[in-house]
Formats: sequence, C-alpha cells, structure tokens
Amino acid sequence: RAKQEGKNQYRFFDTSLSTNTEEAMELAGQLRRALEKDEFFIHYQPQIEARTGKLTGLEALIRWQHPVRGLVPPGTFIPIAEETGLIVPIGEKVLHLVCAQSKIWQRAGLPPVRIAVNLSARQFAQKNFAARLGEILEEHEMEPRYIELEITENMAMKDDMQPVLQQLRDQGFTLSIDDFGTQYSSLNYLKKLPVQKIKIDRSFVTGISRDRKDEAIIAAMLHIADRLNLTVIAEGVETQEQLDFLKDNNCHSIQGYIFYKPQPAEEIEDLLKE
Ligand code: C2E
Ligand code: MG
Ligand code: MG
Ligand code: MG
Repeated sequence: RAKQEGKNQYRFFDTSLSTNTEEAMELAGQLRRALEKDEFFIHYQPQIEARTGKLTGLEALIRWQHPVRGLVPPGTFIPIAEETGLIVPIGEKVLHLVCAQSKIWQRAGLPPVRIAVNLSARQFAQKNFAARLGEILEEHEMEPRYIELEITENMAMKDDMQPVLQQLRDQGFTLSIDDFGTQYSSLNYLKKLPVQKIKIDRSFVTGISRDRKDEAIIAAMLHIADRLNLTVIAEGVETQEQLDFLKDNNCHSIQGYIFYKPQPAEEIEDLLKE
C-alpha cells in the first residue's frame, strides 16, 4: 500500500505504528491467524558470565514470520497484542515453545540452562496467573527453576502484584526486572520485591565511555544490587569499552551483540554442546 501512495511517502510500519491505524487493525486480525497457523517462533540470546565467559542463561525473544511481510519485530506487534488482549494467548504460546525446546535439549543430554521469558503487564494481571503458569510447566514436566520471568518495574511495583510475585517465587521461578532504570525505579520497592535479578537497560550501556552520567548510574546500580544481593545483567553490550567498564564494576552477566545475537534453537544447541 505504501507504494501506491507515491515514492515520497514514508512508511512507518516498523517504527511508529500506532494502534488505531488501519494497518494496526489489519495486523491485529492477522495476529489471531498467526497464532492458529503457528507463525511465531523463538530466538534465544545467550547470557554470559562476565568473569568467566561461561553461558549463564538464555533469553527467549519472540519472532513473527509473517507470510507476506516477512519477519515482523516484537517492537511492532507486541504493543498491538497488548492492546487487543492477544498477548495472553501469545504469551502462553511462548512459554509452551520454550518449555518444549528446553525438554528437547534436556532429553538430548545437554547441560540444563535457564531460559528467561518476557511477561507483559496484561498477562501478569490475569487472575490465577501463577497457577496458570504452573499448569503450563506441569504439562511439559518442566521444573520452574529452569524458567526465569522478566517483568518491568511498573508491573512489579503495583501493590496488588506483590502476592503474585511471592507466589511465583515460592513456585521456584527466578524473577528478574527487565529494562531496569527506565520506569519507576523505587528503591523502597527494590527492598521489598522478591526478585533475584535486575537487567540494566541498554540505554545506560550505550552511554559507557561517552556519558559520565550513564557510567555513574550504572556504577551506582551495581553497588546497590551488590548490597541487596541481587544479580545484575547488562543488556545490549556491543563494544569492548562497555564490556571492560562492566567487568571493572563487577557486573555479573552480559547480554549483547559483543557475544551473541538472538539466534535460532539449532545454533544454541551447538553452543550447549561445547
Ligand atoms: P527486551 O526484553 O529488553 O529484549 C532485549 C532486546 O534487545 C531484544 O530485542 C534483543 O534482540 C535486543 N538486543 C540484545 N542485545 C543487543 C545489542 O547488543 N544491541 C542492540 N542494539 N540490541 C540488542 P527484540 O528481540 O527486538 O525484542 C524487543 C522487545 O520486545 C523486548 O525487549 C521485549 O520487551 C519484547 N519482547 C520480545 N519477546 C517477547 C515475548 O515473548 N513476550 C513479550 N511480552 N515481550 C517480548
Ligand atoms: Mg527482556
Ligand atoms: Mg530489556
Ligand atoms: Mg522489555
């Protein structure tokens, strides 16, 4: 359609799709079909221990192979899925795919690796969410200790969500706070939340060796996390300077293109064999 509108028309498909445009409505309808036709799959991005270079975990990142548009990035369709509520079945699909893959690796005798899954606010706010997650894992005979749940600050800091977090923690899941520092970072909540990990957002990491303020904030985050016994992982690490700074400040794990991009399960399998 963009072509028909003339050469000088910008096409904002991948960047600023607003959920009430005609195109968003079209995608919303196609998301439903995508679920039925199994057009979603998972890329896994390795997380590496800074000190040793060892694999410490994987993050599951959803991908949509659209029959016409090709690969549609999550930044484009997750907001639409949230708006329409389709994020709930899509999120469950992700969990099923991750559990199934993990069991394949386990049965092949590969060393167990914890896989982090992103949760959306809408999923998290469902009634009986913790019980529902438990059921899905049971279906796959999957142990919760191999699954990490990534939530965001805004999700974690709602008072009525505290019992849900505690329940998930009691069930054996690892909990982490994604995109840490970009939303409401209340130190008071950090004290109370039953989470084990925080993920420093890429927006801070990109400031390393360019912006003293970003460096100061990262150093402070690492210091507080250490004192609170939280594990820290830095996201979006691309350069040697960033890696060196994070290592010097005792950041535990690194996730970023400097080591690995998100990749299909088959490629991860080779890594697990090493
Ligand atoms: P996120 O959870 O913060 O995931 C990290 C994003 O940073 C991923 O983008 C990853 O590919 C990208 N990334 C990792 N290392 C680097 C790096 O060194 N440089 C750069 N430039 N980028 C890096 P992706 O896969 O496009 O996902 C974007 C967001 O979509 C995720 O951010 C997450 O919020 C959301 N998302 C992805 N999968 C799911 C899912 O299954 N469910 C939900 N609810 N959200 C998801
Ligand atoms: Mg994440
Ligand atoms: Mg993040
Ligand atoms: Mg995120």
